Order: sequence, then C-alpha cells, then structure tokens
Amino acid sequence: MLNKTIAEIISSLEQRQISSVELTQLYLDRIKQLNPQLNAFITVTEEQALNQAQQADVLRGTGDYATDTHPLLGVPMAEKDIFCTEGIKTSCGSKMLDNFISPYDSTVTANFKKAGYVCLGKTNMDEFAMGSSNETSFYGNCKNPWDLECVPGGSSGGSASAVAAYLTPAASGTDTGGSIRQPASFCGITGIKPTYGRVSRWGMIAFASSLDQAGPMTRNAEDAAILLNVMAGYDPKDSTCINRPVPDYQATLNDSLENLKVGLPKQFFSSDLDDDIAQLIHNAVSELEKQGAQIKEIDLPHSHLSVPAYYIIAPAECSSNLSRFDGVRYGYRSDNAEDLESLYKNSRSEAFGEEVKRRILIGTYALSEGFYDAYYLKAQQVRRLIKEDFNQAFKEVDVILGPTTPSGAFQLGANNEDPVTMYLNDIFTIAVNLAGLPAMSVPAGFSQNKPIGLQLIGNDFEEARLLNVAHQFQRVTDWHQQKPKNFD
Ligand code: GLN
Repeated sequence: MLNKTIAEIISSLEQRQISSVELTQLYLDRIKQLNPQLNAFITVTEEQALNQAQQADVLRGTGDYATDTHPLLGVPMAEKDIFCTEGIKTSCGSKMLDNFISPYDSTVTANFKKAGYVCLGKTNMDEFAMGSSNETSFYGNCKNPWDLECVPGGSSGGSASAVAAYLTPAASGTDTGGSIRQPASFCGITGIKPTYGRVSRWGMIAFASSLDQAGPMTRNAEDAAILLNVMAGYDPKDSTCINRPVPDYQATLNDSLENLKVGLPKQFFSSDLDDDIAQLIHNAVSELEKQGAQIKEIDLPHSHLSVPAYYIIAPAECSSNLSRFDGVRYGYRSDNAEDLESLYKNSRSEAFGEEVKRRILIGTYALSEGFYDAYYLKAQQVRRLIKEDFNQAFKEVDVILGPTTPSGAFQLGANNEDPVTMYLNDIFTIAVNLAGLPAMSVPAGFSQNKPIGLQLIGNDFEEARLLNVAHQFQRVTDWHQQKPKNFD
C-alpha cells in the first residue's frame, strides 16, 4: 500500500479498499520507524493528520462532495517546512523560526486543504531554502535513502528523501535555483518547478522573491499533474501570481509525441559532463525519438553566466527579505540585548546559520551605494540575455532536454569547505529560474548506484507539455519505479 502513487491511492480510497485513517496510520507508523535514520521530517503532525483523515472518511461516507472539488480527499502528503501552516510550527529550517507557530495557511496549503488532503507533517530543508544539500538546516542534515552517507540534495531535501523512502506518497517543494529538481534527481523521484507566477507564493516564506516558485515532488509525472492541478491558479494575495486559466494537466498526459521538437543545448553536453550521465541522457532522448520526437542541437550562449548572475540576484533579494527577522515581532529573540540595536544584532547573529549570514552579507554588499551598478544591475542585464537565449531556442523547439545535475548525490560534508563548488551544483537548473520558465526532473537511470535525473525545460506556461513528455517517457521506462534497498 505504501508504494502506491497518488493516482492509485485515490482509486483505492474511492473503491473503499482502504480508509484514509488506515492509510494515514500506515504512513505515520513508517515515519516513526524510519525518520530517525533519515531526518526527513522536522515536524510530524500526527494528531492533525488523523483528524483530517477521519473527516475525509466521514465526508466520503456521506457522498456529499464532488470529486472535482475534492480531488485529494483523504490523500496523505507532506509539506516542505517553508509553507505557513496554521497552528503548526513553520521553521523554514532555521533557529530563527524554531518557535514560530504560523497563525495562517499559505495559499498552497489552503488549496490542498480545500482539495481534502491529509498533512502528515513538515519536511526538512536547508535554512531559508539556501543550499543544495540540506546540510544548512538547523535541524541537522537529512539523508538520502539510496545511500545514507550521501546528501538528499536541497533545499527541498526532506521532501525528496521522504517520497523516495515511502514515508509519504508526495510532498510540496520550492525551487529558487533548483531546489525541487536537484533533490528530485538525487533521490530518484519526479519534481516540477512551474512557470514563475503559476502558483501563489503567498504564505511561502520568501528567499528570493523574483525566483521562488512552489511545485509538487512525486513518484511520477501523473501524480505531479494531479497535484499541480490543485496548487496552480490565480491568487489576488500574490501580486506576481498570473491571472490565467489553469489547464487540466492530466488531460494531455497521453498526447502523442509525434513531431515534438526537442532541443539539446550544446552547453549542457560539454566535455566536462560525466560520461555516464551523458549516456543516460542520450538514452532518454532515444526513447523519445522512438515515439516520434525530432532532435535538434540548440545554443544557449549565456548559460555559463547563470550561476554568477544568480549568486548576485538571489542574495540581494534575500538580504532584503530576511530583514524582517529582527527579534521584535516574531521568531527568535536574544536574551542578551541592552538596547534596540543590540537586540537586532544579537538576535540575528545567534539565530541565523553561516550560509544565511554569508548570503545576507553578499546581498547587502551588492546592493550598497557605489556597487549597485557593477553587480546588481549587471546581473539583471545578464538575466535578460539568458531569457533572450531561451526565447530564441523556443522559436525552434518545443522542449529542451539535458541533465538536471552534473553528478549524482555527493557525500555528506564533501562540499562544505567550499561554497563555490556547492553553488556549481546548480549549473543546469539556475538559468530556468532566472528566465522564469517551467522545468522538471524525472529519473533517467543510475550512475555509480545513484539516481540521475533528466531535466525537461518548457516555454512559459508549458507545464502541460512537460508533464506529457515526462509521462510518455515513464510509460516506456521504469527508472521511476526503482526502490532504494532497505527502504523498499
Ligand atoms: N541551491 C540553490 C541555492 O542555494 C538553490 C536553492 C533553492 O532553489 N531554494 O540558492
């Protein structure tokens, strides 16, 4: 039962093969048993989960609901601890918010609740979503179920690890520079980052507001479509949320790939790319060719500038967003303050971790008078060039394919001494956020026994196309069905 997809769970619940309370209890038991090894959850909301499950069972019993308004009735799931959840601790992986009980729900959470979901708990993450390994979490690093010596990726590492180890059938994630796709790749699961503005950011704790976007992390593309149907949509509370109809993402999963134009960016397949990974991606491309896709090499000439531009823009935005954590209104407050200034200083010094402090310093420096033109403005100009590269590419192709990451999951601690090596992990994912595009990662095989993800990038609002291509790929491959030993 625990191995089922969301689609299968929905049908089991509909056919009364299991109740939501029974299913929820199975997951809670498994979390109790395995979370001490994995550290994938920061908070397990046992009582709330069982209440929600019971209510779902009662509602199902009365039959007094429409399947299209309650598509997730009684379906257990987990939420990344960056989403505000009413009455529940929302820590964002930080000591700063260790005592923060959110008084309201994020729009994503509210949408899930309306759809009838059951929340099992909140998943571990890099502090304020800054990281690629989950090692910056105040709650200790989460582990990769494929190899407990390795990181699960980040920042949505807890969500990816929990899905991969069957502690939950799916989880929410957020992606500012790769945080859904990279951990999905490292843990052998499926994840999609939607177009900027497709999903409301309201109540999702901000890291870099012009880049952050929420999306589902699941076992397969079909489940991602089911969850994106619930998550996506206009929200007047988020001024950057787009008012545009949401297509039914499930409806087009089975469209044919005949004449689909696929672009392979030559910059993603340079001689630096690991041979094993290049081979897996080429194998995936051949699968799509068999289904009628036409392959073409494309050029994204500015892609090498995406990491440097991101590491100006994201810290600049974070330095501004994180100024709200001042020890006064909510969150951590230092005990040793003599006046207002030392209250600010000590609260922030004591409660932020090293990586968060580093980013705040870089961001504040880049925005300071005299440096703004040289750094921030320049980075924004580069961002425009990166977007233009994609605009040109999408004149010729429908989707772009490549690897999600330059390597499989790395050892815990391996990149801690050198932040730049850690930042380079996002070399293939970051340009997408700078351009605001949708992209996903799907399992495409193994290198040195570690899962490797195939990345699919679409034009603005082409989520349906990505999910369609991913689903057709998963119809003929079984990489997404492989299970980590000891967690199967
Ligand atoms: N790894 C990137 C960073 O550290 C991206 C994180 C994210 O997408 N939230 O900023």
